[in-house]
Amino acid sequence: MRRAKIIATLGPSSNTIDQIQKLIETGMNVCRVNMSHGTHESHKELIANIRKASALAKKEVAILADLQGPKIRVDKLATNLELKDDSVWVIGPSSVQDKYPEYKDCYIPTIYEKLVDDCFDGARILFDDGLMIAEAIERDREVYKIKVSVGGILKSNKGINLPDCDVSAPSFTEKDKADLMFALTQNIDYIALSFVRKREDIQQVKTLLHDLKINIPIISKIEKPQAIDNIEGILDVTDVIMVARGDMGVEVGNHLVPSIQKKLIKLCNERGIPVITATQMLESMTHNPTPTRAEASDVANAIWDGTDAVMLSGETASGSYPVEAVRTMVQIILDAEQSPKERPLLRHVDLSSVHASVMVAASLIGEKVFAKRILAVTDTGTSCLKLAKFRPDTPCLGVTSKEATARRMCLYWGIEPFLLKGYSEDSFNFQEHVIEEVKNLLGLVNGDKLVITRGDGKFFSAGSSNSVKVEIIKDTPKVLGSDEALEEASDDKKKILLDHNICATCQRCVEICPHGIWVVDKVTKDTNLNADQISHCKMDMECVEACPTGAIEIISSFT
Ligand code: PEP
Repeated sequence: MRRAKIIATLGPSSNTIDQIQKLIETGMNVCRVNMSHGTHESHKELIANIRKASALAKKEVAILADLQGPKIRVDKLATNLELKDDSVWVIGPSSVQDKYPEYKDCYIPTIYEKLVDDCFDGARILFDDGLMIAEAIERDREVYKIKVSVGGILKSNKGINLPDCDVSAPSFTEKDKADLMFALTQNIDYIALSFVRKREDIQQVKTLLHDLKINIPIISKIEKPQAIDNIEGILDVTDVIMVARGDMGVEVGNHLVPSIQKKLIKLCNERGIPVITATQMLESMTHNPTPTRAEASDVANAIWDGTDAVMLSGETASGSYPVEAVRTMVQIILDAEQSPKERPLLRHVDLSSVHASVMVAASLIGEKVFAKRILAVTDTGTSCLKLAKFRPDTPCLGVTSKEATARRMCLYWGIEPFLLKGYSEDSFNFQEHVIEEVKNLLGLVNGDKLVITRGDGKFFSAGSSNSVKVEIIKDTPKVLGSDEALEEASDDKKKILLDHNICATCQRCVEICPHGIWVVDKVTKDTNLNADQISHCKMDMECVEACPTGAIEIISSFT
C-alpha cells in the first residue's frame, strides 16, 4: 500500500467524469480545484463530476478548494509589451492610467490599487513568475518609475511579485470570501489559503468558519518570505501546510527552495501537521510522457524528507499526459517508500492525549505482531491523523461511517479510508461486521492479525479512542490443497503438527516449551518445529492448550 498521498489539480485536461475516474483509479487521492481560474458555474460542474467519478471508481477522493489570495497581476494590455534590458517603464493602477497621458507609451497597468504605496525605491518588481525583473527607481504621484534589469515579453494578466515589499493587501481578499462561501455550498473537504504571512491570516478564516459552525481544515500555502519568518505562529493555528514552491521560488529565489522545503517538512513532522510538497514536481510531463531523472529524484526526495503528500499542478490541469503523471508519481512513491526504509516512530511527538498514546501503541503493536492492518475506528478522522503522525509501518484503514470523514482522510499519510455504509455504532455485532468486511476485502486467512483501535463506549465518537486490541483471524475454513502449510515432526511415540495456516505467530508455544521444540525463524518471524528436539516432548500438551488458534496438534501412541 502506498503511504504518501497524491493531489492533482484538475483543469481543461482533466475535467470530465471519464478523465477524473481514470485519475482516481490510477492513484489520485485529492482533487485540487484552483479558484484562480474559472467561474463558480464551472467549479460547480467540476465538483459534481468529481463526485460522480468517485462513485464510479468506488473510491473516496477529497476536494481541495485553493483560494487565489492577493495575487497581484498585470491588467489587460492592448498589445504585448517588450521590456528591454535597462528600459524605463511606469507601473500604476489601471484606474488612474488615463490621468497620466505623458506615460501612455510606457504604462504597465496593474489590478492592484496599492502597489505604488507598498513600493519603495530600490524594491524589486518581478513579472511572470520572475522571468522579468525590474527595480523601482522613483515615485511620481500615483505611479512608480521602474528600470528593467532582466527583460522579456510581458503579456496581459501575468503575475507580479513584490518580494521586498510588505504587501498591504489582506491575505484573504473579497474574491476569496466569495469563493469560500461558494465552496462551502459544495461540500468541499479542504480550503487552501494563498500568500499567508502570519497566524492572524489563518485565524481570520477560522473565525469566519467557526461563526458559520463549519469545521473544515485549512491548508496554509507557504510562499512568502514573511510566512517563513512567522512559521511557528502559522504552525500553531493551521491544519495543514503546503510548500508552495512556485511563488516561493519567485519570492525568495529558487536556490533557497530546497532548504526551506526540508525545514518546513521537518517542522511539520515534529508537530504531526500534514505537509504537502507542491509545484513543478513532474513539470516536463506537461508535454512529455515520461519525467526527467531530476524530477523523479525530486519526488523521491520529498518522500524521504517526510512529506505527507505531493501535488501536481499544470501536469494534470492542462498537460497532455495527466494519467501518466499520476501513474509516474505512484511508481516513484512506491519505490521511495521501500528504500531507504526510514520511517522512525516520531517518539518526540506530544503523547499527552489518551488517543495519541493509543495510536503510538497501535503503531508499535502492529509492527511487532506483523499485523496485516491497523483498523482505526474514527468519527472525525482525528485519531487517524494522530496515527499517521507516528508513520506506522503497518498499513492502516480509517474505519468510519461518515463520508466527509472518509474523504478528509484521503490526505492522511498511510491511512486508507474505509467507509462503512449502512452501519452505525448501534449496529448489532458492529466489530464482527467490520472484521468480516476487512477479511473479505483483503483476503485474510487464519492466523492473520488486525490491530483495532476504538473507543470502548461509542464506536464513532470524536477523540474517544482509548483501547487497542489484536484480533487474530481464526475462523476461516481451511482451504483445500493447503496441506503444504502443515509442518510435522515425529518420533516413534508421538507426532507434532503445526498448521502454519492458522498459526498466529504469537510465540506462546515458544515461551511455554522448556525443551526448545518451538523456534522462531529470525527472518520471517514464523514459528517452526525443531524436529531435533521432538524426542524431549513430555506430552503435557501445555503448548496445545496455550495456542489461541488451535494450530498445534500432538498425536500420541503413534506407530
Ligand atoms: C505555488 O505557488 O507553488 C502554488 C501551489 O500556488 P499557485 O499554483 O496557486 O500559484
